[in-house]
Amino acid sequence: MQNSQQLFNHAQDIIPGGVNSPVRAFNGVGGTPCFIKRAEGAYIYDADDNAYIDYVGSWGPMILGHNHPAILDAVIKTAKNGLSFGAPTELEITMAEKVKQLVPSMEKLRMVSSGTEATMSAIRLARGFTGRDKILKFEGCYHGHADSLLVKAGSGALTMGVPNSPGIPADFAKHTLTVSFNNLTEVEDIFAKYADEIACIIVEPVAGNMNCIPPVDGFLQGLRKICDQYESVLIFDEVMTGFRVALGGAQAYYNVKPDLTTLGKVIGGGMPVGAFGGKKEIMDYIAPVGPVYQAGTLSGNPIAMAAGLAALSELSQGDKHQQLTDATEKLAMGLKAAAERNGIALSINYVGAMFGFFFTGEDTITSYEQATQCDSALFKKFFHYMLEEGVYLAPSAFEASFLSTAHTDEIIDKTLAAADKCFAKL
Ligand code: PMP
Repeated sequence: MQNSQQLFNHAQDIIPGGVNSPVRAFNGVGGTPCFIKRAEGAYIYDADDNAYIDYVGSWGPMILGHNHPAILDAVIKTAKNGLSFGAPTELEITMAEKVKQLVPSMEKLRMVSSGTEATMSAIRLARGFTGRDKILKFEGCYHGHADSLLVKAGSGALTMGVPNSPGIPADFAKHTLTVSFNNLTEVEDIFAKYADEIACIIVEPVAGNMNCIPPVDGFLQGLRKICDQYESVLIFDEVMTGFRVALGGAQAYYNVKPDLTTLGKVIGGGMPVGAFGGKKEIMDYIAPVGPVYQAGTLSGNPIAMAAGLAALSELSQGDKHQQLTDATEKLAMGLKAAAERNGIALSINYVGAMFGFFFTGEDTITSYEQATQCDSALFKKFFHYMLEEGVYLAPSAFEASFLSTAHTDEIIDKTLAAADKCFAKL
């Protein structure tokens, strides 16, 4: 870790915390973050030339493994025609059509450059369209760092203990209502109270920012019904789940149709891309057709579109999601068995190619309370033991982990052998 340590020391002098996004600083687990030099397939390599099996995958985008040749080719080829024009291109139409084909509820969509931009824009659109100010989100769900959404947020905000960040005026935050994930009664009660004041519900259909918590039976269907009843907009934030839990996202997996969807991560194949879209009549409320303003100098950037399109095209070929689901199941079952063999109580959640494990005696974890009550000290130890064994897990107990098509049986067996050793040491 000598080189990483040196880089980290240097970085902290000039970049806050030494990182450009908080969770990377290893605050959730302590110690020195690995500075990464390169990556290939399921592996990342740090500045000290250590190789790690990577279960972070750049926090989701690398679903085909790192440095995929089809994506790399598309980027290089497209870059030769110029990097950015600030004018429309045919690639943007091709991208929009591809996304619509995979996620049909997105009748119209617009590209942005990050997940944060996608959710921020979708919220503004929902507010503009309904003429209502309040929004409803779930405790522990993370939707990027826009002001309205950093209220009882998950991910790094939860890891750093600032789910309600300073810098957001109380007058602003008061419009964000929060209730418990997987609790329809609380949603019903809050709608009964605020009736026609709530512009939208925004939800991670599988929560991935308080570890991994799938929706309980009927939860997403219940949200759909409540939004229909109160003429509120249902937004599925599929930045993480999009193209990951299934090719058509969580909405295909659970068969529930939102009014708006936000996308990120996989849609850019590793380049900075996000998108939001949905019902035509709502999307046509966006400028220049409608009055709600939203824009971006680099939105629909040709290199980003080419990378994303290559990723989506590759992902659509063969039954990649069956492969991903099988691999995830093998890993999850293997981890559970290895923990049991070593007398460690572990609960695992997984959907498609995302999973999370909890150090707890409870059988199933379905709530934020349960997730935050798990043994995070044990997680920290396990994380570092696994790192020493060459396995790079998400450096926080409150993040989901991800598989890629490059995680072969052999690589998963290696991971499980490492886990067996690490559980024994706990
Ligand atoms: N929504 C969800 C569900 C996310 O997981 C994230 C990022 N982890 C975001 C939004 C924000 O995306 P970005 O980091 O690209 O701004």
